[in-house]
Amino acid sequence: MRVITRFAPSPTGFLHIGGLRMALFAYAWAKHNNGKFILRLEDTDRTRFVKTAGEQILELLREFGLNPDYYPTSDQLEAMEKGQLVGYGADWALHLDEIEKVEDNQFSGVYVQTQRLPLYQKYAWQLVKNGYAYFCFCSKERLEQVNKERLAKGLKPGYDGYCKLHYTLDEALEKIKKGEPYVVRMDTSAAERLFGSSKITVHDKVLGELKFDFKDVNDQVLIKSDGIPTYHLAVVVDDYLMGVTHMMRGYEWISSTPKQVFIYKALGWDMPEFVHLPLILDPGGGKLSKRKGSVMVAEFLKEGYLKDALLNFLMLLGWSPGKGDTREFFTLDEFVSLFDIDKINKANPVFDRNKLLWFNGEYIRKKDVRTLTDIFTDWVRKYCDDVDFKKAVLKDSQLDKKMELVKPRIKLLSQAVNFLKMFYFDPEFISPRQVKGVKRYECETIARALIDYFNYEDLSSNEAWVASVRRLADAYDIKHADMFMALRLAVAGNPVSVPLYEAFVILGKDKVRERINRYAERLKECK
Ligand code: GLU
Repeated sequence: MRVITRFAPSPTGFLHIGGLRMALFAYAWAKHNNGKFILRLEDTDRTRFVKTAGEQILELLREFGLNPDYYPTSDQLEAMEKGQLVGYGADWALHLDEIEKVEDNQFSGVYVQTQRLPLYQKYAWQLVKNGYAYFCFCSKERLEQVNKERLAKGLKPGYDGYCKLHYTLDEALEKIKKGEPYVVRMDTSAAERLFGSSKITVHDKVLGELKFDFKDVNDQVLIKSDGIPTYHLAVVVDDYLMGVTHMMRGYEWISSTPKQVFIYKALGWDMPEFVHLPLILDPGGGKLSKRKGSVMVAEFLKEGYLKDALLNFLMLLGWSPGKGDTREFFTLDEFVSLFDIDKINKANPVFDRNKLLWFNGEYIRKKDVRTLTDIFTDWVRKYCDDVDFKKAVLKDSQLDKKMELVKPRIKLLSQAVNFLKMFYFDPEFISPRQVKGVKRYECETIARALIDYFNYEDLSSNEAWVASVRRLADAYDIKHADMFMALRLAVAGNPVSVPLYEAFVILGKDKVRERINRYAERLKECK
């Protein structure tokens, strides 16, 4: 089976985690069938356009290993960013002779919609000529008035078909020649002619039979007054011309389905399979919301999630390997080989942030130290805002020794920062008064014990060192755990740290001595 899928985001913002899951599933289905995966940028809403979004999306797909086979070239990206449209704009309908002659293959290899405008205009004109669409000249004020009246009658907002009823095509073309602004609208009243009924049933590979009635469908604008198509027309023209076999997209687009089916049929084109992925829900219900935490892929990366952990988590949002198979860990290659549209669950998956965090911890633990160190260094380079820490880490040739201590203790790469700081910077003073356990002793007792530490210190092995600290604690009638805590506060400057023995060895005797002395000195001021 020949399979072509696409991921078709609008560059109106940065990549959303739901978008990445969409891309993952579309990629997997293409690759499972040795097919092709396309990245197409749907930049028809120029008012919400975000300059570098397209570039970032392509870069992220690649970083996650979801390499598209076809994608916008850097020239296309640049033209898109500059807002250079290809073809006619608002005056396109003054050039219909020319537009009719546009060849489809003139734009093969172009994956940005504003660089393909003549194609949409050509097919919009074909729809108009064949009576499936019409030019509309209604002003914004009139449309608002119509909507007001409909609402007052308890109807949904929508267009009343005024221009279709009042102007022949010749009259409409006359108005255009006179310079009146125009849009193209789909004529839904032609549905009965096309389908033999206003009602249609569409088969969706995930959701099954979907029923629509064109009586409920608005006369959708297909080409806006600036000559740019709306999503509904552009998506059909592109999916068809790009040979997309499975139109995989999010459930939020479902209401566009009858409009698309209408256009396919009116242009005499075969339809792709429709595959709507159920919406990802927040555990508290409703759509995934940024009030509860990150939703953008870049935010998750900045927080310190690993790419393979994120991908693995996303795989399980709506897919499982099959009955009786309880595995949860999959590489991208495994996912590709196991993936099947039939295994996509109809129910809405829930975005369990705790589970994602758990996954990330597991992935961190599974990495060997060398690899984890590289991943962490890369993270520091890209995302760490602490300039001094960044400098220190990037020139540390012994970082892997430290990462080995940190690895079992973190669930996010960002959590490594606090554990590692003790190796690069002298700690801030934390009074024993603020810390559970140690606060029961006189500061002076702790200070005396700490200074005496050097008389006990035995760094020959972990066991010997632990025994030496215990002897010290006994000599001052301090509980063992509290003695270790006092040393931790003095040397790590944090009640939570990596194991002290290993840390002391890495820091070296002199550094440890210096910090303990300084801490004991400060204790003189505390009561
Ligand atoms: N451009 C739409 C978006 O912003 C794509 C919907 C589709 O995949 O057809 O997500």
